[in-house]
Amino acid sequence: MINNANITKHYLLASDFDKTLSFNDTGLVLSELLGTPNFEEKVAGLSRINLVQQGGELAYLLLHDPEYRQVRREHLVEVGKRIRLKPNISLLSQFLERGVEGHRFSFYVISAAPEEVIQSALEGIVPADHIFGTRFRYDPMLGEIESILRVPAGYGKVAVLDELQSELQVSPDRIVYVGDGSSDVHVMLHTNRREGFTIAVSEAKLITPIARRTVLSDDALSVLVPILEDLAGWDANSIRLLFESQGLLIQEWDKVQTDLLTIGEIQVGTNSESAESAEVGEAAAV
Ligand SMILES: [Mg+2]
Repeated sequence: MINNANITKHYLLASDFDKTLSFNDTGLVLSELLGTPNFEEKVAGLSRINLVQQGGELAYLLLHDPEYRQVRREHLVEVGKRIRLKPNISLLSQFLERGVEGHRFSFYVISAAPEEVIQSALEGIVPADHIFGTRFRYDPMLGEIESILRVPAGYGKVAVLDELQSELQVSPDRIVYVGDGSSDVHVMLHTNRREGFTIAVSEAKLITPIARRTVLSDDALSVLVPILEDLAGWDANSIRLLFESQGLLIQEWDKVQTDLLTIGEIQVGTNSESAESAEVGEAAAV
């Protein structure tokens, strides 16, 4: 009989960057640096017309918008230094690398943010070759962005994840994806459909019904909770002890079942087409 306890399961853990590992949007930080005020309106306008994949708006602006055309590689590196990261990404990365009781994880970042920004923000924390962001080609003389080589936004994230999967030779059910917003919908559906594991780190309406687990916390290490519970089969006590061994105390851990409902009035004279929607998700706040 084969002794399964000695077999290590190798997982590919891919995480989004903006608002998953950081607190704010790269585009906003860049716009602040440039002193251009209308970033959010521009993104809203672009997403209304569905010209680019959700999350790919900044890449589009960098190539086409006069206010963003002035951006050079140095600006992107500087933006990375200004990004406010969630605490303990370094611990998370080390923990995943080391693995736990028969589970080990290759940790990658897949994000629509410019690759220079993410590499600069995560310098010394996540190796540059584990970061897949939007990649530009620069004019060698002028230094300006000449074209876009790749945008890992929306379906673009699926393409990168598939590439990594075949490179690392992990099976689809050994993929974990962590994300927070609309740009993560495609890749989460793709991961779930193939029996992978998905974690939402926000209450964004589009992804909480899709993600297998939702965990809300200001600390990057919190994603270990659903991983340890659902993949490694740990109980809450063991998880608390692990955090304590790292000098961290889980101060609050509320497990809540969330029912979000919108209920409209029945319109007299019409049939049963009145507004009615209900969403049910499970969220754990750490
Ligand atoms: Mg995000």
